[in-house]
Amino acid sequence: MMQCPRCLNTDKAFFYRGSRGWYCRKCISFGRVMLEEENEPVSLAPVSEGSEEYTLQYPLTKAQEEIAVKCAELIDTSDVLLHCVCGAGKTELVVLSIAKMLKEKKKVCFAIPRRQVVLELRERLAGYFPKAKVVAVCGGHTEETDGDLIVCTTHQLYRYYRVFDLLILDEPDAFPFRGSEVLHGIAETSRKGHMICLSATPDQELLRKEREGSLIRLVLNRRPHGHPLPVPQIKVVPDKVMFLSLIRWLHRHRAQSCMVFVPSIKKAQYLYWFLFLLFPCCLCTSHTENRDEVIRAFREKKNGVMLCTTVMERGLTIENVQVCVYQADSRIFDEAGLVQMAGRVGRVFAYPEGDVLFLCRRRSEKAERCVKALREANLCAV
Ligand SMILES: [Zn+2]
Repeated sequence: MMQCPRCLNTDKAFFYRGSRGWYCRKCISFGRVMLEEENEPVSLAPVSEGSEEYTLQYPLTKAQEEIAVKCAELIDTSDVLLHCVCGAGKTELVVLSIAKMLKEKKKVCFAIPRRQVVLELRERLAGYFPKAKVVAVCGGHTEETDGDLIVCTTHQLYRYYRVFDLLILDEPDAFPFRGSEVLHGIAETSRKGHMICLSATPDQELLRKEREGSLIRLVLNRRPHGHPLPVPQIKVVPDKVMFLSLIRWLHRHRAQSCMVFVPSIKKAQYLYWFLFLLFPCCLCTSHTENRDEVIRAFREKKNGVMLCTTVMERGLTIENVQVCVYQADSRIFDEAGLVQMAGRVGRVFAYPEGDVLFLCRRRSEKAERCVKALREANLCAV
């Protein structure tokens, strides 16, 4: 049976015979690899001396500490899923595991879906591990691809073949990972050791692996500040008056930052033209070119409104932010996405609570399941 050495594809329909031999068309966008060629593991520089020394900005809570220690033990023998609620400090949970690997002179990679977060995370990890060479590899940052600790977008994993002794995969249940066999295959072939998956909303695939015993799940339902997760209030209103409900809600929170998630870019633009007359307002969608700047301005303003689409549902921490999901019953939103959007609220110690509102045109099972999931997580945290 033929198998692509990079994306692990075995489907014959994707194999083509070129002048140099067989190659795989499934992952050809990452460059051509020949099937018959011996694939030597990519060799990288040895891990630097002392790179394992770390200091955290805040000490871990007892609950975090327990999970961190257990995870570092398990990665010698098994893949691990860290199933943590949004805002549980998942990066800090893997620091001990990273340190352990670096101490054994082993290579570690932290792969995340979005480019923006790669640069942020590199800074943070470089702060934690002052003696380690921490490199960011993503679009626009590809001159340097070797370090002790490599932080990259999932797409960049194709550069590494059987390299990592520990691969940390952030949100394998989210876009662009979700449902992409090619990216999953590429992640699989980039490592030679075990893997830690980080997720607040693990999908069926991850849970299946847990059932089959190929992965051990550790659950953390508590944020470091110990406060419960904000549970959304669901309000069913006719579409015609939904806008008024939104204005009323924004008015109530006019002294705070508010994120309003909408199902489409068109809807975001449409609402923007009305709202910017009433509130300091910005737009943040996949069409927003200067997204970093828009986010920075929104963060600094402390009382603005950000109209955004699902591109903003993950990875962002804003102090004292409130969240409204407009037309939360839309088929664009899924349960995991709704959990993530609600998870933007109450993340920092100074503002551990906040308000989440789901405005729906009709009863929505997805919204109800999201509320149920958050309530259950709160109950389990006690
Ligand atoms: Zn392939």
